[in-house]
This record gives sequence, structure tokens and C-alpha cells, in this order.
Amino acid sequence: MLATNRFGTFFGVSQKVLDSVWQALTSPTGESATYISMEIGADLDVFHPVRNKLHQLEITEHPDESINRFLQLFLKGPVKIPNYSGGLGILAGDTLKSFADCKIPIVGISLLYRKGYFSQMVDSKIGQVAWAADWAPENTPGLYLLHDPKSPTQPLTIEVPFYDLQGIRSVACAHLWLKMEINEALDYFVPEILLDYQTPQSPSWIQDAAQHLYDSSSEKVKATQRRLLGVGVVPAMEALGITSRTIHLNEQHGVGVVLSLISQLLQNEHGPQYETKATDQDILTAAAEVAKRLVFTIHTPVKAGHDRFNISVFDDLISPFCKHALNLLAREEHNNYVYNFTAMAMKLNRATNSVSRLHKEVTQKQFPQYADKITAITNGVHHLTWTSDAKAELYDTFPELHNWRRDPSVFAKAETLLRHNKFRTYFEQAWRTDTMILVDYVNRMLTTHRNQRLATWIDPPNYLSYLSMEEASLDHTTFTLGFARRFSTYKRADLIFEDLDRLTAMITENNWPVNFIFAGKAHPSDEPGQDLIRNVLAVQEELYQKSHGLAKLVFIPGYDMHVAKMMVAGSHAWLNSPKRPLEASGTSGMKAAMNGVPNISIMDGWWVEGYHDGRTGWKFGYEDSISHEHFSEQPSSLLYNEDSASFYTVFPEMLRWFYDPALHNQYIDKCIANLSLNCPIFNTHRMAAEYVARYDLDLAPTVKREMKKFRSLYCSDPSFHEQSK
Ligand SMILES: *Cc1c(COP(=O)(O)O)cnc(C)c1O
Repeated sequence: MLATNRFGTFFGVSQKVLDSVWQALTSPTGESATYISMEIGADLDVFHPVRNKLHQLEITEHPDESINRFLQLFLKGPVKIPNYSGGLGILAGDTLKSFADCKIPIVGISLLYRKGYFSQMVDSKIGQVAWAADWAPENTPGLYLLHDPKSPTQPLTIEVPFYDLQGIRSVACAHLWLKMEINEALDYFVPEILLDYQTPQSPSWIQDAAQHLYDSSSEKVKATQRRLLGVGVVPAMEALGITSRTIHLNEQHGVGVVLSLISQLLQNEHGPQYETKATDQDILTAAAEVAKRLVFTIHTPVKAGHDRFNISVFDDLISPFCKHALNLLAREEHNNYVYNFTAMAMKLNRATNSVSRLHKEVTQKQFPQYADKITAITNGVHHLTWTSDAKAELYDTFPELHNWRRDPSVFAKAETLLRHNKFRTYFEQAWRTDTMILVDYVNRMLTTHRNQRLATWIDPPNYLSYLSMEEASLDHTTFTLGFARRFSTYKRADLIFEDLDRLTAMITENNWPVNFIFAGKAHPSDEPGQDLIRNVLAVQEELYQKSHGLAKLVFIPGYDMHVAKMMVAGSHAWLNSPKRPLEASGTSGMKAAMNGVPNISIMDGWWVEGYHDGRTGWKFGYEDSISHEHFSEQPSSLLYNEDSASFYTVFPEMLRWFYDPALHNQYIDKCIANLSLNCPIFNTHRMAAEYVARYDLDLAPTVKREMKKFRSLYCSDPSFHEQSK
């Protein structure tokens, strides 16, 4: 399990595996892809194949001290890597894990943030309180500081130049960390290269700008972060010898890589003096050449997700030549003082992908000039990461689902389990286990907060912490509705509390208890997002009183992958209430589906494809055609009245199906339909297979066959399918 190459020693894969992955990534033919993402979410407490293997083999120590050090780190080391803020990063992690499962030669590149994304504390009066996340890459299993092959005691270092108005250069230096996404069989891995600019050689302002993911304290800091990612890519590839022809931009944040690639081409053509020799036409021609290497995925129609900068911000960051290139390539059509990086990424690529069918339509409306080349590849989730232990054991037990771990398309056969009584019984047992885990977690949290309240100045976030344990405890037989995601205006976390009288009336009239479990962080500079958290906290008491204690609303602080996994598996339904069509895909609902948990959702993002005429869950809210006016996030255009009213008509039906013994079976039918209709499709194996078709890689025949199988069940974009035939 120990392997070494020029850059270091790694634990968890054999020498043969390390060598074969490295050989593919550095092969002169360039048949690999480099995947660039601002964030990558892959916490080890939700997926940790090396530790699982050690447990399985009952290996707890090793006589060789150097091996034992690795062993203890993997068995007992930290499991949090706070290098993500939400769906985009977790999608990146899930994607790279599926590439590893499918043995596709890919390398991920991202930044390492020593203060991560913030940790969340919540106070009932103040709302969210953010503090720096604490972690140490040095002690994190699976993360390695790479060494310089020429002087193995030194870290491998790359340099990125910065310029100021006087043209004086300063140089930012990054160390390269390698994180391994190893597959379950430990016979392949995808390396992620994390650029760490908090080195003593970097100027202090760069070190400061590199600390926090999505630091937006100023436009300059934000632009600096983007540059650290984009312009670090080519030097990192060169330092490691990575030859990928295809470069995949997971969102536009790293689009600065095109400047390096254009410079590279022009330098080859015009020599070291290219900055003065190349004409505008030369630059445009080089850009068109570079575009052939790029695949771009756009993830959101929401403005905050698209980087636009005042062009003057760059006077102080990049060389006059790069500035000139940006003037040619990135200037906004209607506003000459703004660089629009989404528009540049949209222009410079050979394939543009949106993340669901509906999002394709939206993106085509937002960028009509590129409408023809925009295709859809609907997102997925890594099924091995998001299936709870209890459900995994269930799936392992039934021969109908044989090989589901390696091949999620197997779930299509779950249809035969619909009338299989033993499966249905076991399914409900596994679900009960998951709900008990969630409810126990919440009850323990409430107890801790109750004790804290007596001992410290902190006001716990939940009204229930102010009640006695007898009154406040959650019960696992109670219908539990889950909602967790970033708190952002368009996601409308407080939508279902719009009319508390109406909501509580349906609960008291039928004597149906309900747990509402909520979680999520708002970006520290997103004030409206933080207001949403306060709104949710503010209704807790009234909801409890008006429902005579039947409705209990709990907010879990510190949303992360672990909390997400517990919530999606333990809830009885998963709520998604964004304003259509602003949720481009959404992935937490897919995680619920992996556990057979039905969604109740606005017809937005992936749910348009996953709803299947009500067989897999419920829909509510506006679902008609979309036009430009629907893209607004103005408070007056958020449709709170209309969409909450629609929710109140659907919700009692759900509760009746859940609680009425005569209807309960039909509730379970919906769960199993999620396994047979949604699991085979909304997984990252299928998604990776669709991307690999866009990468156009020359793969080994067995791998090629496998990928074809994963995408044969579903084609996100039939128009692309036609073209490729
Ligand atoms: C899955 C996940 C998300 C994304 O959820 P959406 O439904 O896409 O908003 C965000 N944060 C965490 C921790 C997650 O696990």
C-alpha cells in the first residue's frame, strides 16, 4: 500500500497503480484531462476507502515506523477538509471520485485554503456567526506536500508573476499538495493538485488573499484568487509533466488559464519577444486555437455566480500584454469597463455544458450568441459517497442489485423489487435506522445546547433548547422533512413558513406531528442570505405553539458533507423550494434519491428530469415556461405567495400517505421508484461517461465499453447524441 515516485511517497495504492496513473497523465499523446475547480469537497467522513480497507483487514499497526505513521494517520487522522462551500465543490469531488472508479486519467487542480471555508456558529439573537475553519493539511490523511525532484528536501514550488501600475513584478510562490481520490478497490486514483500560496516566499498581500475560499472582502482580493487559480494551472502541469490536451473548467473561476495557453502558443511562434511582436489578429488566432482544448461547464444562471470585474482592478495584477489580451477577449459588449469572465469562458471552448435540461434552455436565453453550442449534461452524485451504511447493507443483501457498487446502472433492476415483500420490509428497517441516527444527533445537539445555555453566554439557535428534554425531544416515528443547502435568496429556505396559520392548521386538524430539520450556511458577506437563517430561527416558537407542540423546527449549525449525508438518508422527504428556474441543477435531492427518499420540490433543475409524473415524489409551485423576467432575484419577483400556497395544497397529501396505514404502502412505492428510476441516472458515473464523450479521449477498450454502458441508459441532451452518431 506504499508507493513512491519523484515527488514523494504515497499511502493507499500500490506502486503499479501509482506508476500507471502517472504514466497516463504524462504521456506524450496527451490523452488525459485536467479538471480545474475553485473548490473541491471530498470529506473523508463520508467516503474513506483506504480506512475501510484497513478496518476490513483488521490492520491496526505496523512494525515499520514509517508505515505505521501513515497507518495511524489513516485510521485516526482528521476527516474534514474544509475546501468547499457548497454544491459546486461537492460536485467536483464526486466527479473526480467517479473518474477514479471508472479509471479515467484525470487530474484535478484547485487551491488550498489554509483557513478553508468558514465554520458556522448560530446564535438565536444574532443569527449566523462565522469564524475561520481550523485544519492542518500536514495531518490530513491522503494529502501530501510534493517534493522537488531535484532537491528532495525542498517542496516543489511554482511561481506566478504579479504586476502593479509601475510595471514592477512581484512573484507569488505556491507549494503543490497532492490529494488522492482513491477508488473503493484501491486499484486506481485521481490526483488533485492543490496550490498553496501561503508560502513565506509569497508577498503578504497574496498570502492574505489566498487564505479563505471565496474571500470577497474587496474586488481586488476576489480577482487575485481567480488569478491564483487560473494562472497556476500551466506552471503546475509543467512542474509535474502533465500533458493533458483537454482542460475542463468547472465554472469560469479558472478561465485565466487561457492567458497562459495563449502566451505559450505565441511564444512558440514569435519567440521571447512575443509580447511586442504579436498583433491583435495573432492573439485572436491563438485564442481560437486554445479554445479547442477547453471544455466549460456553467453551473448557475444567478448573477453572483458570474465573475465580472472593473477592468481597472487588473491594472494592478497582470502584465500589460495580458491586459491587452483581456481587452480583446473579455470585455463586456455593453459595458466597456467590465471584464465578464463567464462570457469569455463561453466564447473560448470547444464544448459548453449546462447542468440540466432546463438549465440548458435558461443558458441559451442568457447567452443567445452561443445558443447553438450549449448542450446539457445533467449533474449526478457519487452513489458510494451518499448511500448510508444501512442502505448500502440493504443493497448488498439483494442479488437483484448485485454489483451496484461498481455499476449504478444496476439500480434499473430495482423495479423487480417493487412487490418484493422482504425487500420492502428490509428497506423500511434500514430507513428507520437512518432516521434514528439523525434524530439522535439532533436530540444530543439540543441537550448540549441546553447545558451550554446554563453555562455560557451563547444563546442556542433552537427554541427547543429552551424547553425541557421531555417536551423538546424529537421522535423517530414522526414524519421528518429535511432541507439543507447554502442559504441564498433564490433558494427561499423560509418559503414554507410563509403562512404559519395555514401550515399549522393542517397539522393540528389531522393530529400529524412533523419534524422540520434545516441546515445551511450563508456566505459571510451575503446579508440577505443571513436574513434567511434568522427568518427560519424566528418562526420556531410560533410554529411550536400554534401546532400545540406537534411541529418541531430544528436548525443544525455547521452544515457539511457529514450532516448532509445524515439528513438526506434519515429524512422522510427532501424539500427543495428554489425560485424556478434559478436552481440550475441541485444535487442534494439526488443524494436523497440514492437512499430511496422522495423529494418534494419545485419543478426546477434536475427535478424536471427526476419527477417521473409523481412516481418518485411531489412537485409544487410555478412550472410554466420561462423568460427573462423569471431570472430576477428582486424580493417582489420571488413568488413567495404563489409557491407557498401551492406547497400547502401538496403537503397534507404527503402526510396522509405517510401516516394513513391504508396508504403507507404507496409511500414506499415512491421510495423504490427512486431506486429504479433515479439512481441509475443521477449518479456521477453516468455524468462522467457523458463528459468523457466530450473529452474525446482514446481509452482502453474495456474502459470505453464500461463508459458506454453508463451513458446508454440516459442521454441528458438528445441533440448532442444525434451529432455524435
Ligand atoms: C450536496 C451538498 C450541497 C449542494 O446541495 P444543493 O441541493 O445542490 O443546493 C451543499 N452543501 C453540502 C454540504 C452538500 O453536501
